[in-house]
Amino acid sequence: MSFSTLGLSPALLKAIELQNYTQAYPIQEAAIPAVLRKSDVLGIAQTGSGKTASFVLPILMNLKDSAPIKNRHIKVLVVVPTRELAIQVRDVFQLFGSALENKIKSMAVYGGVSINPQMKGLMGVSVLIATPGRLLELVRLNAIHLSSVETLVLDEADKMLNLGFKDEMNEIFSLLPKKRQNLLFSATLSDDLSSITQVVLKNPEIIKIETAEENIDLITQTGYFISEEKKGPLLRYLIKTNNMKQVLVFTSSAFNADKVTEKLRKNGVDAMAMHSKKSQEARVKALTNFKNGNVRVLVATDIIARGIDIQFLPFVINYELPRSPKDYIHRIGRTGRAESPGEAITLVTPEEEHHFKIIQKKMGKWVTMVQGESLDLHGY
Ligand code: AMP
Repeated sequence: MSFSTLGLSPALLKAIELQNYTQAYPIQEAAIPAVLRKSDVLGIAQTGSGKTASFVLPILMNLKDSAPIKNRHIKVLVVVPTRELAIQVRDVFQLFGSALENKIKSMAVYGGVSINPQMKGLMGVSVLIATPGRLLELVRLNAIHLSSVETLVLDEADKMLNLGFKDEMNEIFSLLPKKRQNLLFSATLSDDLSSITQVVLKNPEIIKIETAEENIDLITQTGYFISEEKKGPLLRYLIKTNNMKQVLVFTSSAFNADKVTEKLRKNGVDAMAMHSKKSQEARVKALTNFKNGNVRVLVATDIIARGIDIQFLPFVINYELPRSPKDYIHRIGRTGRAESPGEAITLVTPEEEHHFKIIQKKMGKWVTMVQGESLDLHGY
């Protein structure tokens, strides 16, 4: 569906056109009119579905002619689980917000960096994107007041619960005015999440987009049986012989991400690691370099991968298996997005074989398996 029928202003439509968004994605088609109507929304959608623009665009529309409010009082609060997602969402607010005549100031705040510049920067902000802990710190310091919030967005709410933010979230809810619009986005709907949706959402419009599952059909999946000690050479063999230019590699721990990265570099493959033990600055640098094509391989752990948004990622390699089938689908869903086909490769040791079978069973698809041991990995 074209964006032009969704109720957005000419200035926003122009900005959308500049981004080369020719058609609204299904989540945008459903959520934009709902948010414009000031309804509450429950959006079940993954990263990659276009969910960010689905709330940013109508929120900007609703804000564009609204009266200014007191300093350090915000109108829109977007709560997100990770710093990476905070930055990404802020960028989308700033991208489309800059197209409007009345400039709407948005800002991202998150932990792991000094709080002082954030306190100063909050002057005149109307849209705040925040991770829960840092938001509460800023509230306690009187740097920000939540009593004028008109719209609350909880993005990747399932992830927030997984990361143990339930208490912080409840504390945030208690600080908000009772009358407000609530938008909640989540990749899945668990029992735990239902307890939140019931408290937060009032007669929500429910929008369900099953991107990852749909996309699985677009993804070529291959598994390689391999011993633990040959995983490194096989990884390098795959990258080099397939001439992979942009590949996301998953490991199960930060330690292994560093180890794999170092080995790749030693063997002449440009790589960077991204995990929770890296500084904020290092993470942003790794992601930017990877997105721009300046670094060939990004080695990441699941926790960080959630916030990674890259379109048309051609290759994902599971160096190690994730714990849950859901994470496996989420990982491989990084490729084959936006209707472009992709390839997902999984390295499977004899110890991981049983677990990989369970993953495939849950996914409802069998992966073609190759005997990695029969490849000539000499020199890789
Ligand atoms: P998200 O699910 O919000 O993380 O968005 C995933 C990616 O899709 C981002 O890189 C967006 O720039 C892009 N995107 C969002 N909406 C559209 C659209 N209607 N057409 C093309 N690309 C889009």
